[in-house]
Amino acid sequence: MSQSFKIPFARVDCSGKEAQYLAEVLSSGWLTTASKAKKFENRFIELIGCKHALAVNSCTSGLHLALDALDVKRGDKVFVPSFTFTASAEVIRYMGADPVVLDVDYATSSLSAQIVADAIARHPDVKVLVGVHFGGMALPMTGDFGILQICKKAGVKVVEDAAHALPSRLDGRAVGSFGDVTCFSFYANKTMTTGEGGMITTDDDGIAERIRCMRLHGIDRDIWDRFTNNTSTPSWEYDVVAPGFKYNMPDLNAAVGLAQLERIFEMHEKRVACASLYFELLGNIEDVELPFQPPNMTDHAWHLFPIRLRPSTNLTRNGMIENLNEVGIGTSVHYKPIHRLKYYRERYDLIPTDFPVSESIWQRTLSLPIYNLLTEKEQIFICQSIKLAIEEKKVP
Ligand SMILES: *Cc1c(COP(=O)(O)O)cnc(C)c1O
Repeated sequence: MSQSFKIPFARVDCSGKEAQYLAEVLSSGWLTTASKAKKFENRFIELIGCKHALAVNSCTSGLHLALDALDVKRGDKVFVPSFTFTASAEVIRYMGADPVVLDVDYATSSLSAQIVADAIARHPDVKVLVGVHFGGMALPMTGDFGILQICKKAGVKVVEDAAHALPSRLDGRAVGSFGDVTCFSFYANKTMTTGEGGMITTDDDGIAERIRCMRLHGIDRDIWDRFTNNTSTPSWEYDVVAPGFKYNMPDLNAAVGLAQLERIFEMHEKRVACASLYFELLGNIEDVELPFQPPNMTDHAWHLFPIRLRPSTNLTRNGMIENLNEVGIGTSVHYKPIHRLKYYRERYDLIPTDFPVSESIWQRTLSLPIYNLLTEKEQIFICQSIKLAIEEKKVP
């Protein structure tokens, strides 16, 4: 589908050492989790500055493992923002727990420290928060009035959904280095990819140990360890301590990840440049509201560039998407909020008027193409097309 657009919403760049590393895996004869996954984890630890990194087969698996490691139980309540992908909420249901869906802050489309503080006051029984670094802009996590401190005081654990946030920074630190546990996504359209894949980071030894075990059937020994260590324990010998999952990352995927990771800053630099050019080219279009701009542009991963059409615009969001599609520009919408999705809406009686901010944003938002292979010429064309669409529909 996206291939039919002249300017697709996302493009994957595998022009680094992806093919070389893949060939190494293929010729090694061991395609599943082994040395490439291990190396990928070690490189990730260096990049983030965290103690542990655990490669998994998706961010969703990572979030599931994170909630399991935090001992979320049936009937527990977990905070999640309305403005996110369904994965952030579905993992709460995997545990038999119930999401407490929170409206977001207008400026950033995500949770603010105030929203979290108010939510804790209203729901003192909630045990865990799934925070989402929407679009790649880090949540206000740090400092005395940051989300981490507020949650810590209330005994609320924090899982970070950092599917958009590689590489994002806050106060000079990388996202993935400050919460209890953080999950990244390497899905095909994210800031780097392994096809499908994810990474969990944590500084907590206990959490890391539980996740290491649960990502592979609850087996108490790493498969790779089983075949490489020189101890007297035979390789067939293992025990199972819990009904774990099958969430490990194969070396085939890790090979692609290693090559992508080598170029993460180069690709990020291009995304920052794309975002800056959008701010410049769209800044003078009255009907377009631009995304939140952090003081330091490079702190933002710029996974997404979501714009909003002002309510006065004589063109609906869907009208704009159609106009852009007609001239070959792919777009997307982030997000149809959780409270609008049938399952959550019906099960938890969620009504739109309880989420006025998400409601106001989602009806008017669309995400523009942003990736390292996007050219300046393409961006100029996208911005001109937006301008034309607005002007043509404008009542004189
Ligand atoms: C993409 C995404 C996920 C899921 O990532 P997968 O790797 O596809 O499981 C979770 N949360 C958010 C916010 C996402 O955008």
